[in-house]
Amino acid sequence: MPAFHRHAAILAIGDELTLGQKSDTNSQWLSARLVDLGVMPGVRITIPDDRAAHARILVELARSHDLILSTGGLGPTDDDLTRHALADAMGEGLVEDEGALETLRVHAASRGHDLTLARRLQAMRPPSARMLPNRFGTAPGIHATLERADIFCLPGPPREMVPMFDACVAPALRADPARAVTTRVLHSFGLPEAEIGTRLADLMQRGCNPTVGTTASGGVVSVRIRYEGEAGAGATATAGVEGTVRGRLAPHVFGGGADTLASVVVRALSARCERLVIAESCTGGTLAGAITEISGSSEVFETGLVTYADATKTRLLGVPEELLRSHGAVSEPVARAMGEGALRSPGGASARHALAITGIAGPSGGTPAKPVGTVFIARSSRDGGEIGTEVRRFLISGARADIRERTVTIALAILHFHMSGVATPHLLWQVPLQGAKT
Ligand code: AMP
Ligand code: MG
Repeated sequence: MPAFHRHAAILAIGDELTLGQKSDTNSQWLSARLVDLGVMPGVRITIPDDRAAHARILVELARSHDLILSTGGLGPTDDDLTRHALADAMGEGLVEDEGALETLRVHAASRGHDLTLARRLQAMRPPSARMLPNRFGTAPGIHATLERADIFCLPGPPREMVPMFDACVAPALRADPARAVTTRVLHSFGLPEAEIGTRLADLMQRGCNPTVGTTASGGVVSVRIRYEGEAGAGATATAGVEGTVRGRLAPHVFGGGADTLASVVVRALSARCERLVIAESCTGGTLAGAITEISGSSEVFETGLVTYADATKTRLLGVPEELLRSHGAVSEPVARAMGEGALRSPGGASARHALAITGIAGPSGGTPAKPVGTVFIARSSRDGGEIGTEVRRFLISGARADIRERTVTIALAILHFHMSGVATPHLLWQVPLQGAKT
């Protein structure tokens, strides 16, 4: 048994994973939990349901790692080979675990099942290993040692794996108390990843501690800060780098950790007791969907109007027919009229802010003057008796789904910047309003 768990390996097992039919969410979850618990995951490996390959990998991993976590392959079917592969790797056979067998018997009896040979196999373990109880399924996990490594074999279904990790693995972990891993993630919107890379170049050099890395997704660029070293020094070291990153990316950083643009906007509206009304054309309600995904949105979200047809833009939002005729539905004046119309509509009577979206998500419907990806977003806000509106034009790249998703993100960012009191910066995919009219 190792003194400390310093080098961890995560092994995901299953044909469905290697064939690309299913996402390996277990490894992602386990990686994050290990980091939280102060143990660095070194490698993650995915293998098919192949007993020989599995045993070989276990032997190899046990030479250079002191902790191996595997998921999958513990069930009662022919492709569940984890216990056999573990026994092979350990040079042991399999014995029946009395306690596990009794649990299976009780379970089978309560469901009126026969305890078939296949089901009984779930009570088998290498003689030197011990079982880990499964409170949410039939297959117990297994804890074994091989060379210097602790091996924990956990079930594949996440709803069984997660509670077993928390109950049986987390308490058994021995992070090196002299070393710590501290991570922090900041989320930004509006700057291209390459520009962020330039601004943070010195911090991002390999070998720095804390290390800084970026990940881009849907226009949001997240900056990961990770300190690995002496326990106690992590918080100060990451806080220092965090301050530098925030300063260099200001005002584009909108949050950190589990924050999303939607959660940050809902929180800000809630803190100010302000409400929002939304009028959507090309996003078809997904902006309203993003807001209502956040718990607490009922306090801040007034109404979402999906005004897809021109006629409903007129009827529900009061967009003048003449405006639609002369400028087209995808235009700056119509976006403006939608935003202001939403605030004046019965659904927006008690709203302080409106977001309105009109655009062309494609793949059809583009013209040379308004190509696919052209989107106008209006933000209107009441200020005393007046309504103030800003409209921005974007040319968003990607397929239909990308354009719709990115539009939602941009709309949320516009409201976020407005509410933070900073002048909304020029945003990714933004193009000048001029030339929008045809
Ligand atoms: P198994 O224990 O291999 O029979 O896996 C049972 C079920 O757990 C599989 O059908 C998958 O749906 C799920 N599963 C297995 N491995 C993973 C994984 N790495 N990530 C997410 N789900 C998984
Ligand atoms: Mg499987």
